[in-house]
Amino acid sequence: MEQLLDFYEQLGVSRAVYGYGEAALERLKDRFDAIDKIAEYNQAKVLAAMQKNRVSAACFAATTGYGYDDVGRDNLERVYADVFHTEAALVRPQITCGTHALTVALSANLLPGDELLSPVGLPYDTLQEVIGIRESPCSLAEYGVTYRQADLLPDGSFDYQAIGSTINDKTKLVTIQRSKGYATRPTFSVKQIGELIAFCKSIKPDVICMVDNCYGEFVETIEPSDVGADMVVGSLIKNPGGGLAPIGGYICGTKACVDRCAYRLSAPGLGQEVGANLGLMLSLYQGFFLAPTVVAGAEKGAIFAANLYEPLGFTCVPNATESRHDIIQAVELGSEEAMIAFCKGIQAAAPVDSFATPLPWDMPGYNDKVIMAAGAFIQGSSIELSADGPIRPPYAVYFQGGLTWYHAKLGILLSLQKLVDAGIVRL
Ligand SMILES: *Cc1c(COP(=O)(O)O)cnc(C)c1O
Repeated sequence: MEQLLDFYEQLGVSRAVYGYGEAALERLKDRFDAIDKIAEYNQAKVLAAMQKNRVSAACFAATTGYGYDDVGRDNLERVYADVFHTEAALVRPQITCGTHALTVALSANLLPGDELLSPVGLPYDTLQEVIGIRESPCSLAEYGVTYRQADLLPDGSFDYQAIGSTINDKTKLVTIQRSKGYATRPTFSVKQIGELIAFCKSIKPDVICMVDNCYGEFVETIEPSDVGADMVVGSLIKNPGGGLAPIGGYICGTKACVDRCAYRLSAPGLGQEVGANLGLMLSLYQGFFLAPTVVAGAEKGAIFAANLYEPLGFTCVPNATESRHDIIQAVELGSEEAMIAFCKGIQAAAPVDSFATPLPWDMPGYNDKVIMAAGAFIQGSSIELSADGPIRPPYAVYFQGGLTWYHAKLGILLSLQKLVDAGIVRL
């Protein structure tokens, strides 16, 4: 298709970069087929939950004020609970982001004197202030919740011995982060998470196991709640919002845990009964409906990126061939300059703000300067094509999202183009 090549050239991708990309794609056919199968399964799962709960136009009506008897909101929570196979769900636009959802889940279920354990090493950057690993007003530490951590073994696996010796009578909640976040450790499969949960519960049967499910939803056919998690938590401007949810977070889990989360989010006594939907229900339902295919496209983009960059000598996590458990692709670029070039390419490929130039800045909640490329319809949405990373060795850029595979493909090709143009990469 000569016209397509002309178009790519017009968008800034040289024939050399395009050709290099096509050669990589040739090798990926079987993997892409396997991803499509998972998407097909998850689409059926979402559809079945929507049909079972008789989703209708009435669910999309806006409510205001207190939001008592909000049919659409209550039904969306049943749909989420059915997809995640949990007793209950809290899915709200009043949950402002993933960090907020995790904060609600933790602070609702931990009381003064309780201890929180992370058996998977240091949690995601923003959680460090929530917990009080980095001092912060209103942290869990300030409220008398202690924290302990068991680091992963050098090969990225669980250190069962350390975990076992860290669990004690105060240990109330175990927080397991599925995705690597801004670390270069592997993301855990749902099966591995299930094994870890089983181990923790074998030592302390009543310990609450919470999984930070950010970026993991719909990548596999099962979720951590299928393997024993008491709560799974995530952001609606990542996978489950399907790119359409303009805000929100979810907590799915046991009724006991989710009830407490609802009381923490609104107020004791009010719980899940209040919280108007402000007209956002259509986006939340429709986004959830689209999420399995959107996630599949994003995952293809991540695999494509690894298969473009790894042969050029850049360390990719996950690597070009290993199995995937989230939509994040880390590429260790080795310098700030290369990070900026990569991000410029992602930005230039965007439907929104393609003319902007991403630069490192001091982002709230993060310890190092962060660079972010995002030309998103929903601001800050990282299920849309985006790249970011803290400016610190190994200068890894974390690339994720893409509402369509074709957009992800263009963004990755343009990122490589910018590295070629800057003289950092030679094809
Ligand atoms: C994105 C993310 C969060 C929460 O981030 P928000 O930007 O607050 O939505 C938490 N944990 C992990 C692993 C994440 O990727």
